[in-house]
Amino acid sequence: EKLFKVLVIGDLGVGKSSVVMRYVNKRFDETYKASIGVDFALKTIEWDPKTVVRLQLWDIGGQERVKNMSRVYYKEAMGAVVVFDITNSCTLEAASEWKQDLDTKVRLDSGQPIPAVLLANKCDLTGRDEALVSSLDSFCKDNSFLGWFETSAKEDINIEEAGAFLVKQIMLC
Ligand code: GDP
Ligand code: MG
Repeated sequence: EKLFKVLVIGDLGVGKSSVVMRYVNKRFDETYKASIGVDFALKTIEWDPKTVVRLQLWDIGGQERVKNMSRVYYKEAMGAVVVFDITNSCTLEAASEWKQDLDTKVRLDSGQPIPAVLLANKCDLTGRDEALVSSLDSFCKDNSFLGWFETSAKEDINIEEAGAFLVKQIMLC
């Protein structure tokens, strides 16, 4: 059995809590309001017949304006999910800042950044920006993300896939 701390970061309103709720509880609740402070959620995955993986998801709430989290929050994190809202390009710029803050505060023993995946969330909404989407490969390269997914917490698109991808990357470290 393995337990991994995974951080869920990104600007206010991009859908972090909704993504976590979808991933862990398999539902979407428009009226859900996160508490102030950090919310924790546990996701259990039967990775293979011999390995159970538990992800302890740390969902920041109310601290999204900071973009400069305390080291305590990042301590011993094994992976990160950075979320932005695909209909709001400002939140993609913010994702870069979140990632930089992350990488200055936590590293693998090897000195490498911890595995991180980028979620382009709310892909169910119209107003998807094609130019923005086609820039994501280079954005990921520039910001050392291992990959990105277009996701929807609302319509349950690619959330499981993104989670499985991240776990795989963590297991390789
Ligand atoms: P957080 O502040 O990053 O935790 O964002 P929330 O999870 O609280 O979501 C902010 C708002 O976006 C809420 O009104 C959610 O219902 C909505 N939302 C979150 N994810 C999605 C999504 O995938 N699609 C759509 N259409 N709305 C979403
Ligand atoms: Mg939240």
